[in-house]
Amino acid sequence: MDPELSVVVPMYDEEAVLPMFFERMHPLLDSLGLPYELLVVDDGSRDSTAALLLEAAKDWPQLRVIRLLRNSGHQAAQSAGFRSARGQYVVTIDADLQDPPETIAEFLHVMRERDLDVVYGVRSDRSSDSWPKRTTARLYYRLMCRLVGKQIPFDAGDFRMVSRRVVDAVNALPEDGRVFRLVIPWLGFPSAEVTYIRAERAAGSTKYNLTKMTRLAFDSVTAFSAAPLRLATWLGLLGGLMSALFVVGALVIKLTGRGVPGWTSTVLAVSVIGAIQLLCLGLLGEYVARLFQSSQRRPQFLVGYDSLEDQKRAEPVATR
Ligand code: UDP
Ligand code: MG
Repeated sequence: MDPELSVVVPMYDEEAVLPMFFERMHPLLDSLGLPYELLVVDDGSRDSTAALLLEAAKDWPQLRVIRLLRNSGHQAAQSAGFRSARGQYVVTIDADLQDPPETIAEFLHVMRERDLDVVYGVRSDRSSDSWPKRTTARLYYRLMCRLVGKQIPFDAGDFRMVSRRVVDAVNALPEDGRVFRLVIPWLGFPSAEVTYIRAERAAGSTKYNLTKMTRLAFDSVTAFSAAPLRLATWLGLLGGLMSALFVVGALVIKLTGRGVPGWTSTVLAVSVIGAIQLLCLGLLGEYVARLFQSSQRRPQFLVGYDSLEDQKRAEPVATR
């Protein structure tokens, strides 16, 4: 029987936390009362994670293991999970027990009760995170709300449940380097939030080093905004304005006879050509931005409701 619930867990070098993770996850998933699969995506771990997973899968038929050939990052591992998940409901959760697995039962309840497509896990309390992490996270969410729109739930990471409709919509996006926590709210499916308290990592150390965090921030910005590419345009305009002032100043100095020979023409050449170059770079940036956006091939809209489908569903009843 196909599973109704898929729990996707990206894992990278998580041998320290794995036994605890299984100990908490196993009874919980068994108690939910629906066919499930626990889909672990091993993101090219170098420690004994893979061996532990295969060992555990021997007497846990619902445990499914996918191994990526090399470490491809948390978001890529989620992509792999989305592609392979078979359930009608798909949860993504970290392996380190920072997101309490018990919340999955609540997600499921809210999702079914209110017939939603997305339920976000929102952290009600970040005190278990360090000060730099909290501050950078706040900055990140502020910036993202501005870029993507107000529908970004504040402080929602990658702990969430989505429906099959969402999984299919995300899988249909051809873009690379998708940032799930932005793309899913951007799609705009009906959603709700469930708050939970984020615990400390149960064992092991963070797998998100500074490089990976910076990369996520860069991916997030560039996926939703061409603003960095427009920087050259703005600098060029600023440079143009400044060079106009320079030119006037240089001419005044020349005409009053206080200039050194050759200085005026040098200033003129440097400032004008600099501004022209920046403007041209900005112009190139505009075209690159358009190419990039069209390569993402995001749908312009998604239909949430069509009355014809309601009619079709009602027809057998009407002819009875
Ligand atoms: N992870 C991954 N690939 C990576 C880095 C992290 O699959 O390259 C997984 C990791 O095993 C964990 C989740 O992503 O299940 C979140 O990582 P972590 O808890 O280390 O991040 P933090 O909570 O410190 O931001
Ligand atoms: Mg963590």
